Amino acid sequence: MTKLSEKYDLMVPRYTSYPTAPHFRNGIKGDIYRQWLKELNPTTPLSLYFHIPFCDEMCSFCGCYTKVVKRYDPVADYLEVLLSEIDLVAQALPSRFKASNLHWGGGSPTMLKGSDWKRIIERLFKRFDITDNATIAVELDPRTASIEYVKALSDAGVNRASIGVQSFDADIQKAINRIQPYEMTAKVIGWLREHGIDQINMDLMYGLPNQTTEMIEREAELAIGLQPARVALFGYAHVPWMKPHQKLIDESALPNADERWQQFEASSSKFIEAGYEPIGLDHFSLPDDDMSEALNEGTLHRNFQGYTADSAPTLIGFGASAIGQMHQGYMQNVSPLKQYSERITAGNFAIERGIELSQDDRLRGYVIERIMCDLSVDLNFVCRKFDVPNTTFISEIEKLKPLSEDRIINLSDNIITVTEIGRPFVRLVAAAFDAYLDNGKGRHSRAV
Ligand code: SF4
Repeated sequence: MTKLSEKYDLMVPRYTSYPTAPHFRNGIKGDIYRQWLKELNPTTPLSLYFHIPFCDEMCSFCGCYTKVVKRYDPVADYLEVLLSEIDLVAQALPSRFKASNLHWGGGSPTMLKGSDWKRIIERLFKRFDITDNATIAVELDPRTASIEYVKALSDAGVNRASIGVQSFDADIQKAINRIQPYEMTAKVIGWLREHGIDQINMDLMYGLPNQTTEMIEREAELAIGLQPARVALFGYAHVPWMKPHQKLIDESALPNADERWQQFEASSSKFIEAGYEPIGLDHFSLPDDDMSEALNEGTLHRNFQGYTADSAPTLIGFGASAIGQMHQGYMQNVSPLKQYSERITAGNFAIERGIELSQDDRLRGYVIERIMCDLSVDLNFVCRKFDVPNTTFISEIEKLKPLSEDRIINLSDNIITVTEIGRPFVRLVAAAFDAYLDNGKGRHSRAV
């Protein structure tokens, strides 16, 4: 395996969309967005994503779009704009829509005040029919949470919380500028459960500075002890050319490709032994969680939040830099806060870029999503579904032959199945179907 992790130590996208975000272009603006919103089918529930781009301090590994603020005022101003954007979008829809999935990410949504949640939820109920069984999920930073805050989330109807942990090790926490003792995380999870928010996700990382396999095994054991329903085990993506604050991380302390692979394998084994089901590239979930059910039913999806059990075909993004997804294409709001705020306050949408999907994009996007989610795809079925000849993927199959020889995949009669050995390399399998990959746009993170 050492040989494979070194041989395939390549840079490839994470495929949270296809085409991936570096291929979005500037031609998609508010007028096109308005038209796309108008064309939506009112009987299909929406998924809504809200981006809160503020944090208390910067974790040096962070790959998100966020800004450090020490005062609440900019957050309060931003909230007013966000509420206006909710109104703008709702008014542009052809009728009143249902929403079945609401997700707040960032940044740190917990930079909002507890009392803000009541206002946000009231506005959403005013504008949308929130379904009875809707998932209402918030990414929560335990370092800024209090029991009163958790109560405010619960009162607002939040039923799932994603807890950022990354590492339980005190030395690693120092190296990544995120001091968050285990006891703090455990206490906040206890508060969430006491207040009925019992669907808990936890984010952990491997490949962090000075991290060893023994350390991450211990961290996996601590995580398992807290029994989150889902765990996301991300490989640290060192991309200082895109995220300059990552230059604070000592590159010489980063594990090499083989060490990263061993860390992933060791921690992954811990979760599987403890009864978690492996999901796609880097998630684990308990068998009774929606995500395991979606995996077993073949309805697991992948979007900008990673893997999701949410089956709504339309994702509307709110907030600076937020990305949305529709049958017609992808669209992204402008990132700088000032521009976002000015556009929305003037009564315009803040869409800055995106891409209109061609039928070839949809075909390849479908194949890539099934590979990333199911670790398997039947190209005969896909060709029938999209009404294209079953010889469509001859060159892709040719590209995959080395992966088949290395037992990363099984290839038989146009059916591709990623092996257990191949799971950490699934992005490479998906990349064979990416028609944009060789055009030089975007530098990506390591495959493992
Ligand atoms: S709290 Fe999250 S979003 Fe904020 S800097 Fe840390 S990792 Fe990034």
